[in-house]
Amino acid sequence: MNGEPSIDLHTHSNCSDGSLTPTELVSRAAAAGIDVLALTDHDTIAGLADAALRAQELGLHLVAGVEISAGWRSQAIHVLGLWIDPANPALQRALAGQAELRTVRMQRICARLSAVGLPGERLLAAVEANPGLPTRSHLAAALVAEGIVSRSDEAFRKYLRRGRAAHIAAEWPALATVVGWIREAGGIATLAHPARYPLSAAARRQLLAEFAAAGGTAIEVITGANAAHSIEACTQWAIKAGFSASVGSDFHHPQHAWNPLGRLAKLPSGLTPVWRSHGI
Ligand code: AMP
Ligand code: MN
Ligand code: MN
Ligand code: MN
Repeated sequence: MNGEPSIDLHTHSNCSDGSLTPTELVSRAAAAGIDVLALTDHDTIAGLADAALRAQELGLHLVAGVEISAGWRSQAIHVLGLWIDPANPALQRALAGQAELRTVRMQRICARLSAVGLPGERLLAAVEANPGLPTRSHLAAALVAEGIVSRSDEAFRKYLRRGRAAHIAAEWPALATVVGWIREAGGIATLAHPARYPLSAAARRQLLAEFAAAGGTAIEVITGANAAHSIEACTQWAIKAGFSASVGSDFHHPQHAWNPLGRLAKLPSGLTPVWRSHGI
C-alpha cells in the first residue's frame, strides 16, 4: 500500500440484504481501490469464506465481520463485530439463533400483511426466494415488485415501521449479550451508525455508557452518506468516552449511486482508528 490505505469496514452482500455476491463485492471493492474491506452482513457470517478467497486472489485485506441486531429499550441497535473468528462455535450458535428470530419474525410480519388484505403468503415466498437471511429490506423490495408501493422507503413508512400495521417488535437479544458474543469470538464490538437511532440526547448518552460497560470499545464515526453534523457528534462521543473510531460505507447496492463503496471522509484528527490495534 502506498500512502494511506483506503478502508471500508461496513458492507453487505447478498448473504443479507445487499445485492452482490461476496465474491462480486470483493471484486468491486478492489476495483474501487479499497485496500482493507470488512464484510458485515446482518446476523450472518455465511459470506466470509467466499469473500476471503476472492480477497486473497486480489491481494485485498479482508476483515471478518458481522452486523448483529441487538435490543436496547425497545430500539433495535446494530453492533458490528470486526476481526471476529468466524470459526468460534459460540458465535456460530448465537447467529443460528438470530437467523431463527429473523425467519419467525418475517412470517409474523407477512401474516400481518395478509390481515390487512395484502398477499402476505406471496410476499413471504418472494422474501424467502432470496439467497440471504430475511430482512425487512427484502420485504420492502417485494412490496415494490408487487406494485403495492412505489419505493422501499414508502414500504417502511406505510407498513413496516413502528406504529404501522405490519410492525413486529423484534425480540433481539440484549445489547450486552451481543457485545459479549463478539468479544468471545475475539472481535472488536463497534456500535454501528450511532447517530441514526431515534433517541433523545440523554438516552443516547446512556446507550453509549451501557455499550462501553458491556465491553464495546469502538463506534462508527464515518458512515456512508453521513451528514457533517453527525460526524462531529460521533467524534465528540468517541473522544469523551474513549472509543476508537471506525469508517464504513454501509454499502448495499451498486444502483444506490449516493452510497458507493469506499468513498468515505477521513477520520477527524484526535481519534484512534479502530484498525490501529490490528497493525493497519
Ligand atoms: P431488519 O434488520 O430486517 O429490520 O431490516 C433493516 C434493514 O432495512 C436496514 O439494514 C436497512 O437496510 C433497511 N431499512 C430500515 N429502515 C428503512 C427505511 N426507512 N427505508 C429503507 N430501508 C430501510
Ligand atoms: Mn441492511
Ligand atoms: Mn445497520
Ligand atoms: Mn449495515
